[in-house]
Amino acid sequence: MTETLTPTKPRCPGTRKDGSPCRAQPTTSGWCPWHDPDRTEAEKLGWVRKGGLTSRPSTIPDAPDPTWATPEDVQRSVVETHGMVTRGELSSDVASVRLKACEAWMRVYETQKIREQLEALEQLAGQKLERRWG
Ligand SMILES: [Zn+2]
Repeated sequence: MTETLTPTKPRCPGTRKDGSPCRAQPTTSGWCPWHDPDRTEAEKLGWVRKGGLTSRPSTIPDAPDPTWATPEDVQRSVVETHGMVTRGELSSDVASVRLKACEAWMRVYETQKIREQLEALEQLAGQKLERRWG
């Protein structure tokens, strides 16, 4: 009897801030550098700066669609994204996609606002003409 279990890659047993398993590739200590209790804060930060956290999944499968209604919502999202990248909770790939989405949303919003103002002006101009000729 031979078992045909595919060997699973070793994963860091640590947990992330949100409580989900870390799953980063562990070093010889069995922990990823971030969760290794023997590493100093400086060593950990050095590892992150070297791109150690890029081994994180670059997508968030359960992430909800952003519900942006106002420019303030988008602004919050930009600040939040920046914070998450700084804390190593988000890969820079995902972050740049998010920030691009923020930019695109703002462009659409501004275009919409300009169109609304233009229509209002046109209406105003039309009323004035009517008054002059009517
Ligand atoms: Zn870890």
